[in-house]
Amino acid sequence: MSQPYTTTIQDEITLPGFAGAVHLPGESGYDELRRSLNPSVDARPALVAEAYGVADVRAALLAARAHGVPFAVQATGHGTHAACDGGVLVKTSPMASVLVDPVRRIARVGPGARWAEVLAAAAPFGLAPLSGSAPSVGVTGYTLGGGLGWLARKHGFAADSVVRAEVLLADGRHVTASAGSHPELFWALRGGGGGFGVVTSLEFRLHPVSRVYAGFAYFPIEAAAGTLEAYRKWIDDAPDEISTAIVLKRMPADAPAPLGGRHVMMLKVLHTGEAAEGRRLLAPLWRAAGPALLDETRQTTYADASMGGTPNRHMDMFDTVTGEVADILVRAAGQAQTVEIRHWGGAIGRPGPDAGPVSHRSTKLSVIVDTPVPGLAQALRPYANGGTFLNFLSDPSRTTAAYTATDYGRLRNVKRAYDPEGFFRIGHVVPA
Ligand SMILES: Cc1cc2nc3c(=O)[nH]c(=O)nc-3n(C[C@H](O)[C@H](O)[C@H](O)COP(=O)(O)OP(=O)(O)OC[C@H]3O[C@@H](n4cnc5c(N)ncnc54)[C@H](O)[C@@H]3O)c2cc1C
Repeated sequence: MSQPYTTTIQDEITLPGFAGAVHLPGESGYDELRRSLNPSVDARPALVAEAYGVADVRAALLAARAHGVPFAVQATGHGTHAACDGGVLVKTSPMASVLVDPVRRIARVGPGARWAEVLAAAAPFGLAPLSGSAPSVGVTGYTLGGGLGWLARKHGFAADSVVRAEVLLADGRHVTASAGSHPELFWALRGGGGGFGVVTSLEFRLHPVSRVYAGFAYFPIEAAAGTLEAYRKWIDDAPDEISTAIVLKRMPADAPAPLGGRHVMMLKVLHTGEAAEGRRLLAPLWRAAGPALLDETRQTTYADASMGGTPNRHMDMFDTVTGEVADILVRAAGQAQTVEIRHWGGAIGRPGPDAGPVSHRSTKLSVIVDTPVPGLAQALRPYANGGTFLNFLSDPSRTTAAYTATDYGRLRNVKRAYDPEGFFRIGHVVPA
């Protein structure tokens, strides 16, 4: 590795002590590394600093402070919804270490690790992290935003399983946040997003999950109304071991027969048990849906269960689900590419006494729509609980809606204590 040196960028921003790779506009790597998955974000940082270790992150942070320019951190760009224009963008992807302690059932990861790497490291021990639908998502960004995965009904949000984080604070101090060390910071990190410091290492519990029954079954769209009616009642008695979503979707033309170009209803399922039991639990829904066009549900391993996601243009959350809501969604499906109706509940709604700020835990169902549908938001508003979930939110002006008023107030207090000048201000951040 190269020795620390002083890099002078455009005669403006210098990074004393930074030993990683620096990418300037026009240089190779700059465009690739600054990229966000959100197409409306076209960030133009003054430089992208690829950090190889904590010392690099610290050097980049102190340089941004010294020069009074914006600072942001990014692992994958999957959740970057605001641009760090003219500033220092630290890319943590080289810091992707993953260590699994199978005895304590704990994983410790670097800030650049993605879920795929944790899944692979934990699976040989019959353990699983509380990952989400896409293995390419970064562990740290996902977990700081709460982390709603397909094991959440059984084991809670990913944030609920965090036991410790190493954090680089706005003033350059490197601290440990845990139940016994900086407990308020530790509370805020478990769902409060990335605005409190740069997390340089995260430790979280793994869970004994290996064999699952999971996948998708496809039905004609005409089954949607009847199945949603059955779903509204079915979710009340579903055990924590089973997680489901109903997705109304226009399949791409090149999807395999008989799905190509067809408007379908998908049933998504992940059951932490045997296929026969999963099928028994699903029977009432399957009866309402009728014969499947294609059934791709199967017994598999958690690491191999690929659950897919839905790009989010509109999201609402519901504590109770009436027939009116189901009707609105079936109508909306006529104008949307994808409408996903997902069951929450279970362990999500039973947080421990010291759980972090992930709010709206009484949510029973969430709805995500990937296409603007005129009038949909207004039609759903009277029935929705008004909340949102940080990880599924792209508009940073709505961050407040992810929290209860009490938790938001507490988050602001933590921000004032740890970042009083609001140095971390890009993306979903709570203001000081
Ligand atoms: C295909 C896809 C599927 C998804 N599925 C789910 C899902 O099933 N469940 C779910 O809950 N979410 C899901 N998400 C949302 C995802 O969790 C968020 O977008 C998350 O922010 C992504 O984190 P990242 O590190 O990959 O992204 P990045 O864009 O690299 O980072 C996003 C933000 O996280 C913060 N951050 C990242 N690293 C650090 C750090 N080291 N210290 C401090 N802050 C940091 C920063 O605020 C940054 O702006 C999905 C997203 C996509 C694109």
